[in-house]
Amino acid sequence: MRIAFIGLGNMGGGMAANLADAGHEVRAFDLSAEALQRAAESGCETFGSIEEAVEGAEAVVSMLPNGAIVKEVYTAHVIGRARLDAILIDCSTIDVATAREVEQIAADAGYAMVDAPVSGGIAAAAAGTLTFMVGGGEEAFRRAEAVLQPMGKAVIHAGGPGAGQAAKICNNMMLGIHMIGTCEGFAMAQRLGLDPQVFYDIASVSSGQSWSVTSYCPVPGVGPQTPADNDYQGGFATALMLKDLRLAMEAADTAGTEPKMGRHAKQLYEAFEAAGNGALDFSAIIKTI
Ligand code: NAD
Repeated sequence: MRIAFIGLGNMGGGMAANLADAGHEVRAFDLSAEALQRAAESGCETFGSIEEAVEGAEAVVSMLPNGAIVKEVYTAHVIGRARLDAILIDCSTIDVATAREVEQIAADAGYAMVDAPVSGGIAAAAAGTLTFMVGGGEEAFRRAEAVLQPMGKAVIHAGGPGAGQAAKICNNMMLGIHMIGTCEGFAMAQRLGLDPQVFYDIASVSSGQSWSVTSYCPVPGVGPQTPADNDYQGGFATALMLKDLRLAMEAADTAGTEPKMGRHAKQLYEAFEAAGNGALDFSAIIKTI
């Protein structure tokens, strides 16, 4: 397929490379010259504008920083320029309201569009093992699924427009809460005289088990290799966790619900970021406990 890819940063760079490796013709655009250079080295054809990149493309995939940029990219540069039968797939993490708004604008112009945010970080993007949560109609999902498959280990239809973003922020709100709870449990166990490895062996097969315990343990030297073993470098940055918690609280306000633990997690991550830790992996919050 001929696929336009817009946004070749930490995530998009690896994703576009996997599409090229799968044999697709990838037409790449990014504002950053370095990102474009890396895309060219990984087998993509690069262009000087979005309009050129989307020319003749059967699918348009984007991986951009936020909702305002996604709206600008689609309404000013993609819609009306891409082929009318191109499937539009936004993989960025953005607010549910903007995702729905842009999908409606696309639909009014005659395009099929889905929101398809991901679970999994930069390593999963490079390895092609992301999980995609897709919001959109049945037919649009089927078309998007074929495009997303080379980039992921799972492509799941979450529901109608915006449902992918809703699933993503609810999932990541749970993750933020679980991680803080895991940090509190390990810190307290240690204060009570337990060896962290022994506590890991117990919690990982008991009811305190979670992904934060068994796959992403915040204590160095315990469990599988995690950012904790690398002084909390790499992994999923605190700033990105905070972005997702903020989106979750925005969505909670719109939905008229009050997730108290989610709000508290957001406050704790805000304080952690304000203390200069935005670039550290989000499990580094254990240092504050
Ligand atoms: P990034 O900042 O590394 O990449 C974003 C890219 O978009 C940059 O290369 C930037 O130059 C480009 N860009 C910005 N405005 C543009 C425009 N108008 N036209 C074309 N290109 C433009 O960010 P990232 O880490 O790759 O994250 C991308 C998205 O993925 C975000 O929505 C983020 O929340 C989400 N996400 C990130 C991770 C992660 O671990 N990094 C995990 C899951 C989801």
